[in-house]
Amino acid sequence: MKAHIVTLPGDGVGPEVTAATVAVLEAVAEHYDHGFRFSHHPIGGCAIDATGEPLPAATLDACRQADAVLLGAVGGPRWSDPEAKVRPEQGLLALRAALGVYANLRPLTVHPALAALSPLKNERLHEVDVVFVRELTGGAYFGAKTRSDETATDECRYTVAEVERVARRAFELARARRHHLTSVDKANVLETSRLWRSTVTRLSAEYPDVRLEHQLVDSMAMLLLTQPQRYDVVVTENLFGDILTDEAAALAGSLGLLPSASLGEGGRGLYEPIHGSAPDIAGQGVANPLGAILSAALLLRHSLGLDAEARAVESAVAQVLEHGPRSRDLGGQAGTAAVLDAVLVALADDA
Ligand code: ATP
Ligand code: MG
Repeated sequence: MKAHIVTLPGDGVGPEVTAATVAVLEAVAEHYDHGFRFSHHPIGGCAIDATGEPLPAATLDACRQADAVLLGAVGGPRWSDPEAKVRPEQGLLALRAALGVYANLRPLTVHPALAALSPLKNERLHEVDVVFVRELTGGAYFGAKTRSDETATDECRYTVAEVERVARRAFELARARRHHLTSVDKANVLETSRLWRSTVTRLSAEYPDVRLEHQLVDSMAMLLLTQPQRYDVVVTENLFGDILTDEAAALAGSLGLLPSASLGEGGRGLYEPIHGSAPDIAGQGVANPLGAILSAALLLRHSLGLDAEARAVESAVAQVLEHGPRSRDLGGQAGTAAVLDAVLVALADDA
């Protein structure tokens, strides 16, 4: 098949892990006879430097015309003054809103070879298999903001329609997996959470085959560390999802391993590793590219409908986790290029 993929390498390690990921997608195109076309555009800090804007109009236009968008990371100390008028993160928030990608899927599994790297002493970590569905275009991140010398506010707002569409995705996903959905809120305190809970509960009548459970976010933060194997699909609002998925990443052994897919209506999605721009290791060629490469697997599956190719990439990554080489965040010595080469070899062997 032919597909147009826009890449937004961004800042910090973003360009390093994105280049590795494009190499993997090019190998997939070659092995499986697809015609992927790539075009690269600035976003975040590098876009501010080049144009004054974190999301230039040309970048957004290109994303709107693409079949899928692959993003590295945005931000870094150079642009992190909290008083600055334009910040890199605004570019990413604006892109998510403009593309209407309201559901952020973050799959989490723990490779058996890495269970030992986890800070948790849990003998059954390798059984963890969760997909988080984080609401991505509403809540406190997008509500009205005010700031004076003495007071600041961030409005948290959700509509029934916003809750319904993301919950529906989560129910469908649970139906295709182990039929268990956990909805996370703070309904004992927050009005938005009460709306969230009643909407999800009402929708559950349409999914009698899915077991729905509600959890308060504070106890969920603990349960994720003590009983992560219990969960199948977890759906939650924007802020809670941001925090819980970083926490959950610790189970996998490294932030550098985890992918994400942001989806809306229609096939186009935005794919990015869950890690940030990692300024402490940027430019050294040591970033772990596997979270970005696994994001490309999600891109193949969800935007291009190429499930066999997605599984080939995931299996190549699993082989590298099993046999090495490993990057420094996973306790190894390998740089980005050596990890990429090993993925390409595993992919060629399987094709
Ligand atoms: P953001 O605010 O953009 O989400 P963050 O504050 O969560 O960023 P990261 O940039 O993700 O922080 O980095 C957190 C830590 O994880 C850093 O020490 C960084 O070096 C490490 N890290 C992140 N991504 C990778 C990667 N791909 N490979 C190796 N280490 C990584
Ligand atoms: Mg972060």
